[in-house]
Amino acid sequence: MNAITRFIRSALLLDFAKAFILAMRYFFRRKATLNYPFEKGPLSPRFRGQHALRRYDSGEERCIACKLCEAICPAQAITIEAEPRQDASRRTTRYDIDMTKCIYCGFCQEACPVDAIVEGPNFEFATETREELFYDKSKLLDNGDRWEGEIAQNLKLDEPYR
Ligand code: SF4
Ligand code: SF4
Repeated sequence: MNAITRFIRSALLLDFAKAFILAMRYFFRRKATLNYPFEKGPLSPRFRGQHALRRYDSGEERCIACKLCEAICPAQAITIEAEPRQDASRRTTRYDIDMTKCIYCGFCQEACPVDAIVEGPNFEFATETREELFYDKSKLLDNGDRWEGEIAQNLKLDEPYR
């Protein structure tokens, strides 16, 4: 074995040792990736996910049909129709959001005086058809009922900054 061959061999061994040490170092480190969807990372309380309409503890809808959310929506994604009830309170008869138009700006949530329309923590609402992204009032209220615990907690955490 001549000197050049010995030099190449020792260089290769050195490279292997370096690579092995590097691999071992990363093997025992905390992983930077998540095995989604089985593992999920933390979300900010301000995360703007799927929309929901909330109710009070009594079950009454929070929305008072003021239409501020509809007016402020830059994508014109919200459509509201309303009429007074027998007790003279105003409630929506129609509350639609076209999620194919929504740009998740959060203005609707910010404009709402009674925290009725919110962007909740759910980000897993991909659909197979376009029609499924046309949300109506019942879908939005269902979202609110389903996520109320998380939504209320997030609004509480965000309270000092509002
Ligand atoms: S998040 Fe923005 S774009 Fe989407 S419905 Fe609300 S105001 Fe409109
Ligand atoms: S969701 Fe809020 S801002 Fe929109 S109409 Fe109802 S009360 Fe007004």
